[in-house]
Amino acid sequence: MCAEGIGVSRILVADDDAVSRRVLGTLLTMWGYEPEIVDNGLDAQRILLKEGAPKLAILDWMMPGMDGLQVVKELRADPNRPSYTYVLLLTSKGQKEDILAGLDAGADDYLKKPFDAQQLRARLRVGSRILELQRRLVCALETSEYRATHDFLSGLYNRAAIIDVLTREVSRWEREHTLFSVCIADVDHFKDINDTYGHLAGDEVLKRLSLRMQSLLRTYDSVGRYGGEEFLIIAPHCDSVEAAAIAERIRSSIAMDELRIDQFSIAVTVSVGVSTIGSRNGTVSAVLHAADAALYRAKGLGRNRVEIDTTSPPQNTVCAVVSRR
Ligand SMILES: [Mg+2]
Repeated sequence: MCAEGIGVSRILVADDDAVSRRVLGTLLTMWGYEPEIVDNGLDAQRILLKEGAPKLAILDWMMPGMDGLQVVKELRADPNRPSYTYVLLLTSKGQKEDILAGLDAGADDYLKKPFDAQQLRARLRVGSRILELQRRLVCALETSEYRATHDFLSGLYNRAAIIDVLTREVSRWEREHTLFSVCIADVDHFKDINDTYGHLAGDEVLKRLSLRMQSLLRTYDSVGRYGGEEFLIIAPHCDSVEAAAIAERIRSSIAMDELRIDQFSIAVTVSVGVSTIGSRNGTVSAVLHAADAALYRAKGLGRNRVEIDTTSPPQNTVCAVVSRR
């Protein structure tokens, strides 16, 4: 999920002084870095704003045209930049006010010219460490967000997350009257599958069905694990007839092939209840309740079938019942 921790090796160097560029290039290469060297601020900015830019930069403060300070300011002006650039300013200025201005502009560190090589090397190690810490933090955040919203077994949205999606669709319907339907798909006789083939096989059945459903839905549909063997699908812009066509595609695809799990060939079917948002089903709980009632009827009528909530009349919509494949 997160980018691998790779040591920071690429460094952008911007300096208008040829001697300084040569010294920096030699030192950085000797220390195992891969320097990208430019002689002005504009080129530095262009490179740093590109995707896949070096995350570490050594910028000379004083350069004609755009100076190092401006480059940093521009870089920090966009708070949505996906990754952080650690900037070390090189300056012949030594006044306290100048240094504070550099740090205020967003530089992470500074070094006075002429610089001591070992000091520069140590400062770069600090920069690399900070970048690595930042990468780990972002990674931990992404992982915890993923865990909080996804079901560990199926990889689908978990119950809370899919209800969130539904809640947003209900709000949109209230605002803009954009129609959508929900389908609750329930694995038939799932307890028997667990009892006959064991719980590990049962888990595998759920994983395979999750993948199958995802592959059959449109890109803008959402599916989540609603309960043990129950899945909730939200199909935007679909009335009940169109949503029933999506549900039928899922039902027939699952019923068509037996699942080969270990040495077993397991016949699996699902029953699906469909309901559509409308004046009579205008809340999260009402639309779910209606789909649940339709599902209950599908079970009663022999399972392996799709039933539509009777209070959801077909309407003229723009639902495209096409699969991703
Ligand atoms: Mg200069």
